[in-house]
Amino acid sequence: MGHMNETPALPAWLDGSPKLLLIDGQPTPARSGRTFETINPTTGKALAQIAEADEKDIDLAVAAARRALDGPWGRFKPFDRQAVLLKLADLVETHFDELALLDTLDMGGPIRSTGAKRTRAIGLLRFYAGLATSIHGSTIDNSQAGEVISYTVKEPVGVVAAINPWNGPLGLAIWKIAPALAAGCTVVLKPAEQAPLSPLRFGELCLEAGIPQGVVNVVTGFAGAGAALAAHPGVDKVAFTGSTEVGQHIIRASAGNIKRVSLELGGKSPNIVFADANLDAAVPGAAMAVFANSGQICSAGTRLFVQRSIHEEFVERLSSFAKTLRVGNPLDPDTQLGPLVSEAQLKRVTSYLDKGREEGARAVAGGTRLQNDELKNGYFVEPTVFDGVKDDMAIAREEIFGPVISVLPFDTAEEAVQRGNDTEYGLGSGVWTRDIGNAHRVARGLRAGSVWVNCYQVMDPAVPFGGYKMSGYGRESGVEHMEEFLQTKAIWIKTD
Ligand code: NAD
Repeated sequence: MGHMNETPALPAWLDGSPKLLLIDGQPTPARSGRTFETINPTTGKALAQIAEADEKDIDLAVAAARRALDGPWGRFKPFDRQAVLLKLADLVETHFDELALLDTLDMGGPIRSTGAKRTRAIGLLRFYAGLATSIHGSTIDNSQAGEVISYTVKEPVGVVAAINPWNGPLGLAIWKIAPALAAGCTVVLKPAEQAPLSPLRFGELCLEAGIPQGVVNVVTGFAGAGAALAAHPGVDKVAFTGSTEVGQHIIRASAGNIKRVSLELGGKSPNIVFADANLDAAVPGAAMAVFANSGQICSAGTRLFVQRSIHEEFVERLSSFAKTLRVGNPLDPDTQLGPLVSEAQLKRVTSYLDKGREEGARAVAGGTRLQNDELKNGYFVEPTVFDGVKDDMAIAREEIFGPVISVLPFDTAEEAVQRGNDTEYGLGSGVWTRDIGNAHRVARGLRAGSVWVNCYQVMDPAVPFGGYKMSGYGRESGVEHMEEFLQTKAIWIKTD
């Protein structure tokens, strides 16, 4: 990567050759010979040709993952799994600038943000490397007649299909693969079709780290490839991140062989600002709770409840802040918001901007696509603040996955909790107040997997994250995440 203020050069890895599937440790063309283009959302131009997997390729990848599980990987001791995960963490550290740049090119995340995820990426790998040596069952007293010992052992659940969206390609790949490998599972990863580059590169680094062939397979392709994985009888578990609608498909597809399933789905998270909050922190906090990654974050605090006595002042300050944000070329280190990932996403988000106005909301900041000479072919949208929003408007109920805040005034804490919970989702939530009792009560009242008080979107490898209600089930990060990849076996021994 170049000096801070120069535009970084394209990574050498993008050498014009098509990027192949990674199956059984080998770069492998799709059996059909088909490829698709991955598009740079800043320019609308293709970055690379990518092999397009279908169910035949999925069969091969699942078979490779099974062989590795029954073969060399199954013989790796906890110390051995720990050692390769630590080696992988070092390799990701060494190659981090390249990986971050691939994400910026492929999905448009500003380089200052993709580049800031170094600690998280490496931290996840090292955290789960640690847990690889902490897996244990328990001995349990029973009440059987005679002498019968009972104890449990934890075993890897088996072959894992990891299916991911585009909004953080490298981080999402590591988030699923690190605990799966720590638990002793093997993986077939299906990255998002919009951003397959860094996951493919990460697959290569897994091999370089000494992880045996077939333990991590990467199959790029579209919904059909994901569906084939979700239904495959050779897959023991699906770990899915994506939309609630596709999550429901996954549950149905899992029924065939009763797969384990964990789901990290969509959200429409409430962020509640009380009049006593430190507004100097709450204004940028509430703005970036949505505008970070151009709103393409599942737990974005898109329903912004503001206590009525500060409503006017807050909206004023929030919209001024939104107008100061630098939207532009994500390769520029000063850029704070890059483009949306694709033309389809641009259409989706701008259609909500129209819908918001039609329903009677007022855009007090932003409100349109951003197109100037430099950005004319990219998928940019202005950071938008809607005021005059009602709880039942589409912009207040449906996940937009773009940089759009809906401001909703409220009077009492009870009302904020009740309206905050009035959604089918339950992923993130925020509370801004200086009153510690109020903070506790509201945090306990919100039905969501994460509550951030006087901050938003803080993540750590050790702290579990996941959804209530239609935001999914299962937890990622923390010790809980390991359990998603482990089976419990009870063993009984009669000794008399
Ligand atoms: P999506 O559900 O359309 O796609 C996600 C992945 O599933 C892609 O790899 C896609 O190819 C694959 N897929 C599509 N149809 C499939 C099918 N029938 N069977 C199996 N796989 C299939 O999601 P998206 O639009 O790419 O991503 C945005 C969504 O992801 C948002 O709803 C967002 O909230 C959610 N998300 C959630 C989290 C979280 O941690 N909870 C994180 C990021 C994104």
